[in-house]
Amino acid sequence: MSDKNSPPLPGCDELALHSLQVEQARNKILESINPPGNVEHLAIREALNRVLADSIKSIIDVPSHTNSAMDGYAVSGTDIPATGTKKLAIAGTIMAGKPLGIHIATGECARIMTGGKMPTGADTVIMQEHVQRNDTEKTISISPGHHAKQNVRQAGEDLARGDVVFQPGTRLTPADLGMLASMGVAEVSVFKRIKVIFFSTGDELCNVGQSLKDGQIYDSNRYTLYGMLRRLDVDFIDMGVIPDQRERVEEAFQRATTEADVLVTTGGVSVGEADFVKETLEKLGEVGFWKIAMKPGRPLAFGRVGHCQFFGLPGNPVSAMVTFYQFVQPALLRMMGIDDVAPKYLYLRCETTLKKRIGRLEFQRGIISNTNGETVVRSTGAQGSGILSSMGKANCFIELPAEKETIKAGEWVKVQPFAGMI
Ligand code: AMP
Ligand code: MG
Repeated sequence: MSDKNSPPLPGCDELALHSLQVEQARNKILESINPPGNVEHLAIREALNRVLADSIKSIIDVPSHTNSAMDGYAVSGTDIPATGTKKLAIAGTIMAGKPLGIHIATGECARIMTGGKMPTGADTVIMQEHVQRNDTEKTISISPGHHAKQNVRQAGEDLARGDVVFQPGTRLTPADLGMLASMGVAEVSVFKRIKVIFFSTGDELCNVGQSLKDGQIYDSNRYTLYGMLRRLDVDFIDMGVIPDQRERVEEAFQRATTEADVLVTTGGVSVGEADFVKETLEKLGEVGFWKIAMKPGRPLAFGRVGHCQFFGLPGNPVSAMVTFYQFVQPALLRMMGIDDVAPKYLYLRCETTLKKRIGRLEFQRGIISNTNGETVVRSTGAQGSGILSSMGKANCFIELPAEKETIKAGEWVKVQPFAGMI
């Protein structure tokens, strides 16, 4: 699955010429993943972070009645004097939630509290601080300078009856839950959670809680994966570490692919390594082993085993996270029913000089900060694909184009903030 149409770049490494570009790979993945599945009805509180399966129209005006935005006096705009002062008789008091069935005639007003329903005949509220009140006469005096219709919230000014307020594919935020409640919607139809299963491969991997034997390392990928999947709010199963044995690998793939919608593995996809992983996948499903013109994280396996989408991520801890964010996360979001899954970028000035090889798009780890009032980015330092602390320190990827070799301090760079990735 190489792309031989990409233009050769000066000084570019040979492998990159026969590799897929990041954008191409992401698009290929998005084109071939399964559409969102079944729908369930949930109470709105349960639907936070879930994705709407249907559009939602408001069946009421929000607010449902024209009301006061201030504590003050409801008057007719025509009673605002151009010069001098005007005296108005107080016809009654309107509290929020307790409308008064009175009509305000010319020369009258009503005391009104914030949220109180405007009486007929009045279209304007004068703040209580701006009137002279005479308690004996039960009158107020108002001066010029007020505007007709001020301090009044019109019925339907937030959401109008009949408006399509939400489109299918909306991932519900706290504000959305509030909007649904404001329309009186108690339940919504959302796509069911997708289920992701994952395991690590490699004989060198030791589980936390056990002591390291000579030549072993702790399995960290299952923990970064756990964190990234949990934030996405998908269901998931952690299958642990699968040792480098043909039968165990085959058995793991068989189980995983019948139990979940998506299988993610890390390790064993580099050329010439753990060939039985490749063998097994070729036997069980349709899986391509892609070389992508990016750093870190070039080897990536993508395809399907039965109905289960498969992502084989590289084993290096940073590569596993970078490939997850660039390819797996957009795919999972799309499977969850979300349309706009493309990464969101900022363009910031880089405070540090960055070096790279020509030919591959690089995702260096960066720190966005404020320096003297300007939002800027800098490198986290050492960028090896095994240096997981570079991800820990970072709050963004600095995406450096394939054709660049040096980015001098002070140049503008393209940045993918992590906060926008969930
Ligand atoms: P691989 O992709 O299997 O060739 O692994 C590349 C590197 O990543 C090797 O140094 C592995 O030891 C390391 N590695 C693989 N899997 C994990 C894991 N689950 N946690 C931490 N490091 C890993
Ligand atoms: Mg390995």
